[in-house]
Amino acid sequence: MSEKDRLLTDEALLLHVRNWQTADKYAVCFTREHGKLRFIAYGARYERNVQGRLLQPFANLRIEVQQGQKVDKLRSCELVQVPQALDVQQMAYAAVAAELTAVLTEDRAPQPELYELLQQTLAIILERNPRLVVLSFAIKLLYITGFAPQMQHCVSCGERVEDEAEAWFSPLQGGLICSECRAGYSGDGLEHCGAGTRRLWQTLATLDFEHPAAFSVRGAELMELEKNLYKFIFFQTDKPLNSLNFLSQLGL
Ligand SMILES: [Zn+2]
Repeated sequence: MSEKDRLLTDEALLLHVRNWQTADKYAVCFTREHGKLRFIAYGARYERNVQGRLLQPFANLRIEVQQGQKVDKLRSCELVQVPQALDVQQMAYAAVAAELTAVLTEDRAPQPELYELLQQTLAIILERNPRLVVLSFAIKLLYITGFAPQMQHCVSCGERVEDEAEAWFSPLQGGLICSECRAGYSGDGLEHCGAGTRRLWQTLATLDFEHPAAFSVRGAELMELEKNLYKFIFFQTDKPLNSLNFLSQLGL
């Protein structure tokens, strides 16, 4: 491949940025056309490096990247949108969306609908309850990436769980467990997952971020959904997410 062939230009949302060696930055981003990319921006931490200053978490940039054998290098970048000022709470929730995207996607697997979703999510976090926005994002992300748990049928017997029926959730098996199966279920880690919690799941799974409809949320159902969802994600990723630890440190 020639030098030119290995140049890639795309729109990107930055998921993670950290310092690299003495003067550089390492970044993970999600792009519109090429999926998740990682690159090193050499010299990005020098005072005079204007482009280097644009490399901040959640920034929306047009990037030009030189693809390398081992590591991709940033050639240039410019703003697509001027970054919005997020408060600590909004930033903490945006970090959850960013980290989930980073851990649940493969390098260079294009998913343009996920790029759109992430862009909408980072915008709507400023206007709406960031906790609900990020839950809705997380559920949609699970469907887009093919990791979504089974929320209609019992994963043990395969029967449909009726709308008003009691049910439980197995983070390990990745789905609902009906009342009958629960009686004979010896595995640990089952969580209650009531009818209201399942309705909230469906509402958040289909919430239109461009024209979000108003809906009411019961605290207990919200907490139950959050617990089930994050436990399930923990089983998928096999490690605790830094951003969720940060949320709990903030008491959110
Ligand atoms: Zn069952």
